[in-house]
Amino acid sequence: MTERTTFFDTRIEFLKGVGPQRAELLNKELNIFTYGDLIQYYPFRYDDRTRFHTISELDESLPAAQVRGRLRDWYFEGEGPKKRMVGTFTDGTGTMNLVWFQGLTWLEKNLRRNGEYIAYGKPQPFGGQFSIVHPEMDNISPDTEIPRGFYPVYSLTEKLRKRHLDSKAIGTIMRNLLEGAYPHIRETLPDSLVQQFRLVSKRDALWNIHLPQNQAWLVQAQRRLKFEELFYNQLRLIKNKLLQKNENPGQVFRNTGLVTAFYKDHLPFDLTNAQKRVLKEIHADFVSGKQMNRLLQGDVGSGKTIVAFIAMLMALSNGAQACMMAPTEILADQHYEGLKLFADVLGLNIGILTGSTTTKRRRVLHEELQTGKMQIIVGTHALLEDTVQFQNLGLCIIDEQHRFGVAQRAKMWAKNEETPPHILVMTATPIPRTLAMTLYGNLDISIIDELPAGRKPIKTVHKFDKHRSEVFGFMRQQIELGRQVYVVYPLIEESEKLDYKDLMDGFESIQRAFPRPKYEVGILHGRMLPYEKDDEMKRFQKRETHIMVATTVIEVGVNVPNASVMVIESAERFGLAQLHQLRGRVGRGADQSYCVLMTGYKLSKDTRTRIETMVKTNNGFEIADVDLQLRGPGDLTGTQQSGVMDLMIADLAKDGAILTVARESAQKILDDDPHLVLPQHAPIRNHLDALRKEETNWSRIS
Ligand code: ADP
Ligand code: MG
Repeated sequence: MTERTTFFDTRIEFLKGVGPQRAELLNKELNIFTYGDLIQYYPFRYDDRTRFHTISELDESLPAAQVRGRLRDWYFEGEGPKKRMVGTFTDGTGTMNLVWFQGLTWLEKNLRRNGEYIAYGKPQPFGGQFSIVHPEMDNISPDTEIPRGFYPVYSLTEKLRKRHLDSKAIGTIMRNLLEGAYPHIRETLPDSLVQQFRLVSKRDALWNIHLPQNQAWLVQAQRRLKFEELFYNQLRLIKNKLLQKNENPGQVFRNTGLVTAFYKDHLPFDLTNAQKRVLKEIHADFVSGKQMNRLLQGDVGSGKTIVAFIAMLMALSNGAQACMMAPTEILADQHYEGLKLFADVLGLNIGILTGSTTTKRRRVLHEELQTGKMQIIVGTHALLEDTVQFQNLGLCIIDEQHRFGVAQRAKMWAKNEETPPHILVMTATPIPRTLAMTLYGNLDISIIDELPAGRKPIKTVHKFDKHRSEVFGFMRQQIELGRQVYVVYPLIEESEKLDYKDLMDGFESIQRAFPRPKYEVGILHGRMLPYEKDDEMKRFQKRETHIMVATTVIEVGVNVPNASVMVIESAERFGLAQLHQLRGRVGRGADQSYCVLMTGYKLSKDTRTRIETMVKTNNGFEIADVDLQLRGPGDLTGTQQSGVMDLMIADLAKDGAILTVARESAQKILDDDPHLVLPQHAPIRNHLDALRKEETNWSRIS
C-alpha cells in the first residue's frame, strides 16, 4: 500500500506508555489503532477537582464532591457479598462515611488511621449522614501536589480497567501524545470562520479537550470541536443535495387558474399565516424548474390537508395529476372524504384506491388515471403497484412519512418517466428543527407552527389508577353534554396476550360502569377484521357509540370532531410522541377538550418528566424537544442513519444553536465557492480528504 503516512498514521504501540500489549488491548476494545484515532477519543465527561466541599456543605444534588479530611477509623459490616468496610471521615465541620465493598484486604493494608486524605465521589444521604461509596482516595503528605483542575473521564471497558488502563492512565498517555503531536496538528477550518466565530485553534482545542487548563478553556475547546464537526456534517449534506438537485429537473407549474377559482368562491376559512407561508414555499419550488423534495411538518390539527389540496390545485392547473398516499386504510378514507369535499365544488375527478377496492373498480381507476380523466387519487400502498400508471403525475403527497421507506418514495418517482413528480412529505410528528436539519439535510423543510384561530388548547390532567371512579364521573358528565370519549389501552405488540387481556377487562368494566341502554360502548383493536373495524369507526362517527375503547390503532389521523375526551390507560407505557399523537385525536371541534393520563403510583424519573411535559404543553415541537433529550436522536428516528448521525462530540439534543450557525456557514461557503477551489478554502479540501480516508479505514475494520 502506498498510502501517504503522516504523524497521525503512526501506530499507537510506538507511543510512550503504550507498547505492544496495551496497543493490542486498545485495538480490540476501542478500535484505536493510530495516533489519529487516539487523539480523537474524547473524554465523555470531566471530574471537577477545582473546588473542595466541606462535609457540612454536602448536598444530594452534587454529582460529585471532593472533601479534604481525616480518616479517623474503620470497621467491617455485613457478611458474604454484602461485607463492606466503613470508614469514618471528618473535617472539622462534620462526619461522613466512606464505604467499600471491594479490595478490602488491599485497603486495610494501605489506608492509614488518622491519615489525611482527599476523598472524591458522589455524596449520598444515608441514615442522617452522607456517605461516598468507593471514593477515590488521595493521600496528602507535605510534599503531595493537591489535584486541582478538570480531569478527563474516558469511556472504557472492564477489560481495560482490569489491565490498569483507567482514565488516569489514558490521561497520562494522552499527555505524551499531545506533547509530540502539538506541532503536527493542522488547522481544519478556514481562517475566516475561526475569526468570525472567535474559535480557538485546532491545536488548543485538542489539547484542552483532553487536558483542560481550566473550565473556560474546556468550554472553548468543546465549542470549537462541536462547530467543526457540525460544519463538516452539514457541508457534506449540502454538497450532496446540490448534486442531487442538479440531477432532477422538475415540471414547472406556473398557471394557477384553479387556485384562484378556489380562493375566490370556495375557501371555507381564512388560511393562517403559516399555511400561506408554506404555500408560497411550495409554489416557489413549482416554478423553479427543479424537482421539489419537501418535508411539511405541522402539529395535529394545524391544517395540513387544505395546504395539500391547494398544492394539488397548482399541479392540476397545469394539466398534471396529483396523488396522496396514506399509511392505513382508515387514514386514506379520511383524506379522501376531506379532499372530496373541496374537489367536488370545483368539479374535479377524485378517486380512492386501497386494499379493499374491488377488481372491477380498480380497472376503472387504472384506466382513468392512465388517460388523465382522473385528476386526483388518494390511497394506501396499493398506489405503488406497477399496474397503477398515470398520464402525467406531477405531485405526490405522502402522509405520515415514518411509515414509508426511501425505496417506496423512489417507486413513486418512477411513476412519471419524463420528469419525476414533485414530492411533499407530510408529518404530524414534529421533529426538532436541529434533528430535521441533520436527518433530512437533503429535504427542504416547511413548518406550520400556528393553529387556526379560536382553537381551545386541550386540558391535560394526570390521575392515578385509584381515581378511576372520579374519571368515570367526568366521562358521564361530558357524555351528558353530548360529547364522546376515547379510552385507549397500550397494545404495543398486537400479539401480547396480557395487553389484550387488559384491554378486554377494561372494556368489560367500562360496559359495567356505562350500562345499556343509556350508553353504548364500542371497541377497536388490531385483531378485528377490517370491515369490523370500519363498522365500529362509522358507529362512533355517527355518534351511535358514546365511548370508544381502543388500542393505538386510532393513533393516526382519525377525525371525530365531537370526541372531546381522551383517556389514556397505563400512560406510563407510552412514549411522548405517541401520547401527543393520541391526544391529537381530540380538540378537533369547537368544544373544550380534555386528555386524562392514567398511571400507577410508581413512576420512574423519565416517566414523570413525560407526564409533566404532556400536562404542561400542547406544543408538539416542545414535546419533541423533550423527547429528544430523554431518548436521544437515534431512538427518535428508529434507525441510525449511516454517516449522518456519527457525531463524536456534538449532541443534537443540546447543540441546536451551533448547528444552525454551522449550517449557515457551510451554505455560504458553498454558495461562494461550490467546488472549494479558492486558496482560502484549502483547509476544507484537506480535511474533507482526511475524513474520506478515515471512513475507508473504518469500513476496512468493521
Ligand atoms: P392536520 O394538520 O392534523 O391534518 P387538518 O388539515 O385535518 O389538520 O385540519 C384540522 C381541522 O382544522 C379541519 O377541520 C380543518 O378544516 C380545520 N382548519 C384547517 N385550516 C384552518 C384555518 N385556517 N382556519 C380554520 N380552520 C381550519
Ligand atoms: Mg391530517
